Amino acid sequence: MTNQTATSAKEKYASVYEYSNQVLDLIAKQDITKEEAAWVTRQTVENFRDHVNPGFLQYRKSVTKDTQFASVEWKDSGLNAFQDVNGKEYIDCLGGFGIYNVGHGHPKVKQAVINQMNRQALHSQDLLDPLRAMLAKILADVTPGDLKYAFFGNSGTEAVEAALKLAKMYSSRTTFIATTKAFHGKSLGSLSGTAKGVFRKPFLPMIPGFKHVHFGDIDMMRKTFEACAMTGEDVAAVILEPIQGEGGVNLPPEGYLQAVRALCDEFGALLIFDEVQTGMGRTGKMFAAEHYDVVPDIMCLAKAFGGGIMPASATIASEKVFSSFFENPFMHTTTFGGNPLACAAAIATFNVLIEDNLPQRASELGDYMLKGLREAAANYGDKVMEIRGLGLLIGVEFHNDEIGYEVSKGLFDNGILVAGTLINAKTIRIEPPLTLTYEEADKVIATFKKVLGEVKI
Ligand SMILES: *Cc1c(COP(=O)(O)O)cnc(C)c1O
Repeated sequence: MTNQTATSAKEKYASVYEYSNQVLDLIAKQDITKEEAAWVTRQTVENFRDHVNPGFLQYRKSVTKDTQFASVEWKDSGLNAFQDVNGKEYIDCLGGFGIYNVGHGHPKVKQAVINQMNRQALHSQDLLDPLRAMLAKILADVTPGDLKYAFFGNSGTEAVEAALKLAKMYSSRTTFIATTKAFHGKSLGSLSGTAKGVFRKPFLPMIPGFKHVHFGDIDMMRKTFEACAMTGEDVAAVILEPIQGEGGVNLPPEGYLQAVRALCDEFGALLIFDEVQTGMGRTGKMFAAEHYDVVPDIMCLAKAFGGGIMPASATIASEKVFSSFFENPFMHTTTFGGNPLACAAAIATFNVLIEDNLPQRASELGDYMLKGLREAAANYGDKVMEIRGLGLLIGVEFHNDEIGYEVSKGLFDNGILVAGTLINAKTIRIEPPLTLTYEEADKVIATFKKVLGEVKI
C-alpha cells in the first residue's frame, strides 16, 4: 500500500467514524431540537436521493401542504400515532400495512424483547433454543384445526417461500394455483404467486408451474384443476389470501373458500392460506380462516406477528404435511428466522392480543368505522365507489386513482396516515392498530368527510 492510499483510507474511516458518532448520539435522543430536526430532514432527503433511491422522494408523501419535506418520521406517540421530526402527530391508519395490530411499541412486547436482549439477543445456532419451541407450541394451540409444526422466518415473503417448498416436498408436484390481485411478496418464489404484472414482468420467467385464476371464481378454479389433472401437471397447492389485502381489500364470495377447500381435497392438493396481513386479529378473529370455518394445510403469518417491534414470520402446517421436513430438518433453514428476540416479541404479541381481547375489539371497532365511513361518504358517490372490509381491514375504493391520491394526501395534511400512494391509490386501505380508540376513529371519520368535501374532481 502506498503512503497516499493509507492516508486517504485513514481519512475515510475518520469521517465515517465521526458521522456514525453523530447518528448514534441522535439515536440516543428521544426529543430533538428544531436545528437537529432540520439536520435530520436534510440528511434523510439527501441520502435517500443519493444513496437509497431517489424514486422514493417522488412516491412518498414527501411534500406536504404547510412544510416542504415534513414527512421524515421520528418516534411513536402512544399506541396509535407517531410523530414526524417536526413534532407533527399522525394517527396511524396505515398501521405499517398491518404490522401494528397491538399498537406502536406496546410496552409488554417491548419489555419482552428488552429482557431477552439483555440475556441473549441471538442464539448459538447449534444448541436447542427454548423460545422457538415455546412459540411453536403457542402457535399450534392458537391456530385452527390440526396445524401443528412451525418454521420461522423474518418476513412475509420468507413465510410464503417456506410454504411453497413444503408443498413441493410433501407432494412431489410442482403446479400451484394462485389468484388474480394476489400479493404474496416479492422474492422470486412468492412473486410467482403474486399477481401484479408490473412487479412480475421484468423478472419473467417466474418459477415454473404457477397458474393464476380469478379470485372468487370457483368455476375457473375447478376447470384449472381439471385441466392440470388431464395434462399430468397435478396441483401441489392452491395459495391465496382468505381476504386479499394489497389487492384492495377483496372479500371472498359466499362459500368460495369452503369450495376451494373441497376442490383441494378432491384433487389431492394442499391449501395454503397466506394470512400475513389478515392474521393476528386484524379481521375480527385471530385468523381470517375462522370466519369461514376452513382449515388450511399450511398457513403463513408475518407483519403483525412480531408485534410491531421485531420482524418475524411463521409457516405453520399440519403434521402430515410438515413431516416431509422431519428426516432432514436442514432442507429449509435461515440463520435469523425464529431468533430469540423475534420469538420473545411474537409470544408477547399473542399474550397482548388475548389479554386485551383485540380480535373482538377489531370486530366491533371495524363495524363502527365501516358504518361511519360509509355515512361520511354518502353524499360523495361521485368520488367514492365502495367502502368494504372486515374487522379493521377496510378498503375505500374511489372512481379513479387521482381522487384516491388527493383524499389520502388530504388526510395526511390533516394528521392521518392511510395507505394510498401515487402509483396505487384507487383503493386506499385503512388498517389502524387494533388498539385505536373510538375518539380517534371518530376523528378519522370526520376528517375523511371534510377531505371528501374539499377534494376537487
Ligand atoms: C405483506 C405481505 C406479504 C409479504 O410480506 P413481506 O414481509 O413484505 O415480505 C405476503 N403476503 C401478504 C398477504 C402480505 O400482505
